[in-house]
Amino acid sequence: MKTVILRKNEEHRIRNGHLWIFSNEISKIDENIENGEIVQAIDYKNQHLGYGFCNKNSLIAVRLLSPLFKNDLNDYLNTSLVHAFNFRKTVYSARESFRMVFSESDYIPGLIIDKYNNTFVLQIYCYGIQKNIELIISILKNKFNASNIFTKNDFYFRKLESLPECDELFSGEIGSELISDGSIKYRIEFQNVQKTGFYFDQCDNREFIERFCLNSDVLDCFSNSGGFGLHALKAGAKSVTFVDSSKNVIESVQNNYSVNKFTSEIKCHVSDVFDFLENCDNSKMLYDMIILDPPAFAKSKKSVPVALKAYTKLNKLALQILKPGGILVSSSCSHQITKEAFLESINSASVKINTPAQLIYYNSASLDHPQLPSMPETAYLKFAVFRKL
Ligand code: SAH
Repeated sequence: MKTVILRKNEEHRIRNGHLWIFSNEISKIDENIENGEIVQAIDYKNQHLGYGFCNKNSLIAVRLLSPLFKNDLNDYLNTSLVHAFNFRKTVYSARESFRMVFSESDYIPGLIIDKYNNTFVLQIYCYGIQKNIELIISILKNKFNASNIFTKNDFYFRKLESLPECDELFSGEIGSELISDGSIKYRIEFQNVQKTGFYFDQCDNREFIERFCLNSDVLDCFSNSGGFGLHALKAGAKSVTFVDSSKNVIESVQNNYSVNKFTSEIKCHVSDVFDFLENCDNSKMLYDMIILDPPAFAKSKKSVPVALKAYTKLNKLALQILKPGGILVSSSCSHQITKEAFLESINSASVKINTPAQLIYYNSASLDHPQLPSMPETAYLKFAVFRKL
């Protein structure tokens, strides 16, 4: 097998379980390696570090597989996919829809698979996975009854890997599915969706907030298909107001409201959340619960300070119109922002308006998004629940 030799001292992070070898950490690389080929990574003393997919055109030059790889990719992918699937079925036995594979966290680098009944939506950000996609498709069909298989890639990440910036239909059609997260149904129209179609990462957190919702007036900001607000309705909320800047998304909220046969009052606004909150009457505390689940404000390290200011502003606007004793549910999916910095941005909001708030719960993503402690990149979601005094 061809090899990649790391510079002295670059082996420590890898020995500690991190799965990415950056191009500037390599001292010597076999010349005729093809992109997507499996290589052996060794340290400067010729000691084995691991096997992984090589991509000479990416800053992440090698994406390592788990130490369980025994030089048989077919066997490795079969076993890894089955283990990933079985784990999800163990924790969500009643569900047919979940994140089945979460790339590095499941030791299948650069591959995300979201399963919606028999529709499997993929994101592929690793050259070696792209090269072996036919094998993966055949496993999905033969072992998991996949009928529709296609990608919904984020082209920004494809570009970083010099993979073609396109989507592919591998099997069946790009249609729609009626999925259930255990208690709420959602109609997903795959032609019109963001990301792969549904934000599975908040499933456990949506259930968590139900305990606060009885007879409450709830504001679901950045609602997307309405997951948080729909769970609030299920738990007996008096009213739910949904706000999202996308018209398609708000139409899907209305559709999901009907699909679930709810009858409590809802209001839907296609609006920028900052504008919406700024236009609320500050002298009136309107809501018993406000949910903030914005897109990532920090896309790079450089943008962290600006993003933290935006989180503070957003949380401040929300705290102002929350009733005393009300619940602020606040998330961040910017992986560049640490838990501590995120909590501090909310603290700073509460201090600015002289409104004490206590942290009553903190969580990360749902159980179908495992993390590797050795790879902070896998722990991106921050979910905090505060009570306003
Ligand atoms: N809470 C959702 C997921 C939110 S994803 C759930 O539980 O599924 C982020 C959402 O924010 C997207 O639907 C996007 O359309 C919306 N969005 C992005 N920027 C926005 C803005 N400035 N104002 C309002 N909505 C915005």
